[in-house]
Amino acid sequence: MAVDSPLSSQLGPPACERDAKALHFIEETTSHADSVQDRVLTEILTRNSQTEYLTRFKLNGATDRETFKSKLPIITYEDLQPEIHRIANGDRSAILSAHPISEFLTSSGTSAGERKLMPTIKEELDRRRLLYSLLMPVMNLYVPGLERGKGLYFLFVKSETRTPGGLLARPVLTSYYKSDHFKTRPYDPYNVYTSPNEAILCPDSFQSMYAQMLCGLLQRQQVLRVGAVFASGLLRAIRFLQLNWPQLTQDIETGALNPKLTDPSLREYMDKILKPNPELAECVRHECSKDNWEGIIARIWQNTKYLDVIVTGAMAQYIPTLDYYSGGLPLACTMYASSECYFGLNLNPMCKPSQVSYTIMPNMAYFEFLPHEPDSFGFPRASPPKLVDLVDVEVGKEYELVITTYAGLYRYRVGDILRVTGFHNSAPQFHFVRRKNVLLSIDSDKTDEAELQKAVENASRLLREFNTSVVEYTSYADTRTIPGHYVIYWELLGKESANSPTDEVLKQCCLAMEESLNSVYRQGRVADNSIGPLEIRVVKNGTFEELMDYAISRGASINQYKVPRCVNFTPIMELLDSRVVSSHFSPASPHWTPERRR
Ligand code: AMP
Repeated sequence: MAVDSPLSSQLGPPACERDAKALHFIEETTSHADSVQDRVLTEILTRNSQTEYLTRFKLNGATDRETFKSKLPIITYEDLQPEIHRIANGDRSAILSAHPISEFLTSSGTSAGERKLMPTIKEELDRRRLLYSLLMPVMNLYVPGLERGKGLYFLFVKSETRTPGGLLARPVLTSYYKSDHFKTRPYDPYNVYTSPNEAILCPDSFQSMYAQMLCGLLQRQQVLRVGAVFASGLLRAIRFLQLNWPQLTQDIETGALNPKLTDPSLREYMDKILKPNPELAECVRHECSKDNWEGIIARIWQNTKYLDVIVTGAMAQYIPTLDYYSGGLPLACTMYASSECYFGLNLNPMCKPSQVSYTIMPNMAYFEFLPHEPDSFGFPRASPPKLVDLVDVEVGKEYELVITTYAGLYRYRVGDILRVTGFHNSAPQFHFVRRKNVLLSIDSDKTDEAELQKAVENASRLLREFNTSVVEYTSYADTRTIPGHYVIYWELLGKESANSPTDEVLKQCCLAMEESLNSVYRQGRVADNSIGPLEIRVVKNGTFEELMDYAISRGASINQYKVPRCVNFTPIMELLDSRVVSSHFSPASPHWTPERRR
């Protein structure tokens, strides 16, 4: 029954007492966004006043915004490299944060080809848990009855390493799932998953996925929502079902677990719940054996009310495929977060993906916004732009997010471009526009133009002995395959037609490109299977000139025309694909180990 709470009037009547508290918290925090921001900055600067970093910039204990803004520079990850290196190498002094650095979170952003290492402190787990605890109270406003069923969520841990100084380095979600906050979470009827901890925490990605899928099938009638963190992860689960349904249905039919599942705690759990159920096996087999998989999610998990996956930003490319497999179920994007800091949530999670706006929660960090007005001619500005505070951003304008966190990042550029769509009380709401400098992304990989250029250069060395060079190239993230893969279009210039590179050589070029790409890409290829083999499509001579003619016919200036290094506009794709003379796939996995190269 809905509980009346005058303070949650803007959002709607909460579903239960606990939700009332959460909605009240959202209302309070967003209503006093500026004073909360003041408090957050004061707390961060007070507790860290003796750190080496703040001392270096002579803050002298000041905690007010003006002094902070006048003394502290705006920085990127590269600027922090020396400090991060020292922490990684075991320097335990208060360099960035007065609280001890508990571990490094390995961001999917990269620096020199390796994942960025973001220092974090223990209490940040509480802040992450707090943001998670707000999601279901908001969702319950829009979708009633979720306490009567379960969520089928595909959640995974990834490999972790230790830095030379002994600190753990792992992705933020791995850190969260392995924490007591997650493992020993109290029972909450609105947050019951079909996947047991034993499956989520199993480090072997095949066994983990298999067990999670099996549990989801066994409890199919209870499943009310299906999700993963990112859209790409949910599609990987569907692909997994496509490949493994014969064995999964056999397990259900016989009650005997696939012998490939060897993890002892996982087996122990599964042996307890797996009983022969020929009727269920037949039902799943009936759906999966059809050639047409359209709407498969809704056919197997018939009570699903929505898919809980992020489909904003780079993940928007998966919306048509998700619609296809789900039969058009609503897509809910609930939160916006990063390794550096969790930012905020979507207060209207059942809206269309194109309408998604995230409300930044002012208690999570101190937020500033760098106006993003790309100068049309690319000239540097006369004076540095002024950063704007959270409550002062303007609707319709774009900004780059800059954060100051409890863990010790000060005026740090996250690299995300956001557009203000409105306000909830005095807290702004943002449309995620894009991440700066990302050309290609399939899963959590982010490849920029310089990385792609380097990869093409490295691969094209293999063409030298054929007197052939790459005259032009562009790229495309092909998400029609599951997993998606990078496609690189090459126009080649060969001096001797009798000695042109063979299929074998071009395959090796694909692999050489993969070897040159960053470690997040290679991990996706090798460990997570979230990215398929890279493909080179060789196009006819003159294709890139045609591409330029096309752009000019659509109004591009001939003087300023630059070959786009990534394409996704359908007519251009059609033009390129119609000129393909041969296509070649990487024949092997590139090199990847959890250890960092440096
Ligand atoms: P990571 O560095 O691996 O923690 O990735 C964090 C980045 O993922 C953010 O800075 C965003 O670029 C992206 N991201 C996270 N949440 C969302 C979201 N809801 N929509 C779009 N992009 C997101």
